[in-house]
Parts: sequence; structure tokens; C-alpha cells
Amino acid sequence: MAITAEQTLAFVRDFSESMAEQKDYLTGLDSDIGDGDHGINMNRGMKAVMVKLDGAAPTDISGIYKTVAMTLISTVGGASGPLYGTLFLQLGTATQGKTELSANDWTEALTAAVHGVEARGKAVLQDKTMIDALEPAIAALQTAVEEGADLETALGRAEAAAETGMKATIPLVARKGRASYLGERSAGHQDPGATSSWLLMKAAHRAFGNTAKQAEN
Ligand code: ADP
Ligand code: MG
Repeated sequence: MAITAEQTLAFVRDFSESMAEQKDYLTGLDSDIGDGDHGINMNRGMKAVMVKLDGAAPTDISGIYKTVAMTLISTVGGASGPLYGTLFLQLGTATQGKTELSANDWTEALTAAVHGVEARGKAVLQDKTMIDALEPAIAALQTAVEEGADLETALGRAEAAAETGMKATIPLVARKGRASYLGERSAGHQDPGATSSWLLMKAAHRAFGNTAKQAEN
């Protein structure tokens, strides 16, 4: 019941496919309160990541995350490149030297990653950013781990918490990023970054939850 390097690759691939499938949706959300490029940015970045990983993927979990980070930072402009780059870089740092991740390891790594994004972007809860999906997700993971829940359950709760957090961005007035230029007019729209972050938690649930299922069978 642990996350392997193979499952880490599956997670990154799932997120990449999701960014391709949801490109127009994310871009549409960003057209409402930003400059209409979030889906384009994320799809371009994750496509470049898969080219890198399909060429020569590192065999360790940390190396995979660091490759994702470096590729996103170098290929994605805008706010989301450095922010997702920071998230994956911190995942890489937190998983250094680990060949498998328990539910607790994943929770600690993702917590460090989200704190890294907060340090970089200076956004807090309810600023109407990706943090509004990510903070509830790590809180749900932490609670699940404390309760002794298995990985599948913990990941499912993190995904659900991210979705709730994403929907809760709709009435908010943006206080960070491009959407904040709109002031009150940013209310009534779902934040694109919170939406891609929910999709990231969904990808983790699918890729790592499968591990748990396989191990149980
Ligand atoms: P840009 O805003 O530069 O066009 P994107 O459209 O790719 O970049 O990404 C926009 C998303 O980035 C927003 O929806 C928001 O979730 C996220 N974002 C912007 N600024 C910050 C910040 N300071 N901290 C966290 N997330 C942010
Ligand atoms: Mg944008």
C-alpha cells in the first residue's frame, strides 16, 4: 500500500492527459477573470514534461518530480508555471531518497509542496487561487492519516476537499494574480488555478489509489 516510482509516473501522465482534455475548459474559466491562457499554459507545460519523461525518465520518485518542476518552470510563462514548478520541486525535495511513499509520506510531501507555493505566491485561503483547492486537500489528507485511513480513502477525501474548495472560489473576490485586477467583478466565477489543482488531486487519487487497490487484491 505504498506509492512507487512507476505510480508517480502514472500520476504525472494522468495529470498531463487531464490538462490536454480540460484545456478549453480551463482556458474558458481564465477568459472570464484572466487572460484566457491557463489551459494553454498547463497543456503546453505538461506536454513538454511528457516528452522529457518519455525520452529518459528518472527511475526515482524525487527525480521524476524534479524533472516535472524544471520543465514547467522553463516552458510555462505566467503565474502558473513558477507556482506549479515550485509545487513539483518541493515534492521532489520532500521525497529525496525515498523509493516508496506511505500515505503519511505523501501527506508530508504534498504539505511541504503547498507551503512552498504559498511562500512563493504569498496567497492565503480565500484569495481565490489554487491554494483554495490545495489547502483543503492537505487538511483532508492530514485528518485521514491521523484517523489511520488507508491511502485510497485519504486520496478520495483529498480530491473531494479540493473540489469543494474549488467551488468555494466562485463567490470570492480575487486578491492575488491577474483576476485581482478585476476587483469585485471577479466574483461569480470559478478560479482556473483552483480547478487545475482539483484535477491534480483527482490524478493523484486515480494513480495512487490504484496502487492501494492492487496491493489489496
Ligand atoms: P497568468 O495569470 O499569468 O495568466 P495562468 O492563467 O496560467 O497565469 O494561471 C492563473 C492562475 O494562477 C489563477 O487562476 C490562480 O489560481 C493562480 N495564481 C495566480 N497568482 C497566484 C498566487 N500569487 N498564488 C497562488 N496562485 C496564484
Ligand atoms: Mg492566465
